[in-house]
Amino acid sequence: MIEAAAQLSNFHASPILNGLIQSEPIQQGPIQPAVSGWAWAALNALTAVMVGVGAIGRVLSQHLFWLGIRNFVLVDYKKYRDVSVSTQCHAAEIGRYKAAVVAQQLRRQGARVAGLPIPAEELDPGWLRPPCIVVASADRHSADLAAHKLALAQNVRFYKVNLEPALILSSFRFYDYTMDPLDRCLECGWDDSTYLRQRSIHSCEDVSERSTGSPRPLSELTAGWAALLIVSSLVDAAAAERLRGREFLLSPLGPVLSESILPEKTDCLGCHRRSGSLVYLVQSPGEIRFHDLALQAGFQPGEELWVGSSGLFARRCRCSKCCKEVAGLWWVKFVHQAAGWCSCGGRLLPVPFHASSGLSRQELHGVWSSPLSSLRVGRRAAVSLKGSGREVTFILR
Ligand SMILES: [Zn+2]
Ligand SMILES: [Zn+2]
Repeated sequence: MIEAAAQLSNFHASPILNGLIQSEPIQQGPIQPAVSGWAWAALNALTAVMVGVGAIGRVLSQHLFWLGIRNFVLVDYKKYRDVSVSTQCHAAEIGRYKAAVVAQQLRRQGARVAGLPIPAEELDPGWLRPPCIVVASADRHSADLAAHKLALAQNVRFYKVNLEPALILSSFRFYDYTMDPLDRCLECGWDDSTYLRQRSIHSCEDVSERSTGSPRPLSELTAGWAALLIVSSLVDAAAAERLRGREFLLSPLGPVLSESILPEKTDCLGCHRRSGSLVYLVQSPGEIRFHDLALQAGFQPGEELWVGSSGLFARRCRCSKCCKEVAGLWWVKFVHQAAGWCSCGGRLLPVPFHASSGLSRQELHGVWSSPLSSLRVGRRAAVSLKGSGREVTFILR
């Protein structure tokens, strides 16, 4: 016993070990494989929008940082639970939001990060400001769908990273929505039953994660592999060509790697969701009016216009407490979000039947020349104007 303790103390006193501990460098810059022709500068201004920072997404974000991506938007509404210690976190992190913990981890290393503890369904279009990519490793179809809608509408590259623990299998898919014409999208692979199986985050159903208990080595292997593929598609045109529109399966127990061409579907619901003309505004909702947007889009004064929004225009609200209904005009992100307060102190909630994602210019007449903030249009919202056969979508700052 004494002998062992002596050995241990000698071990700790070892100058080699002490030297290692004391002089271990803190690596600030990225370490990038020196592949000839790879244009690493393409990563400098890029933002990675990570939808899901769980067992795969947390490690994947870290790998992307080590490879040179410096800006992140992290979207995950979940908190770490006891079981997460085995799959993805430290014990001290239990009970904290994943998005907040991973954001803090990356920020400490010098990344610029927005950590959003919200479901993907609540992500505003303005977070996808180019140059950016969307990386989805969520485990709900409705989260995929929400992230996918935004990536498609804003012509952004979309990567889907998955694993299947029962088969010890990782999968990587790359859909390139910067391409025109677009030949395939994530939803091309979906049939009606996929849409039916979607569960809303705001429903009373259980939306707990499916992948609880995925072995950590497989999550981390998947994340490392996917990070290299994602980055190669960004810094090398030939690699992008090689990867786009394909699914790759990595199965460490063999056969090791297989690939397939992703399906195309002529009647796909997803591919038709692309926007026409996109304008990223430097103004926030307080600094611009519908009037300015119509001018900027080149529509004539008095021309018939249809105004669409990433949120909802509510024409009627009902008080959550006294149930009184009031008419008016409010902008809300969702039907479950309060538009304001009743005089009784209750919350004014939009009446679903009287809330729509679009209104005519006439219906917005009263607020046409007021800042969008007077209607409480949110930051990073999208507002589109449609008239005489064309549509222009504005993304607010
Ligand atoms: Zn499609
Ligand atoms: Zn009331």
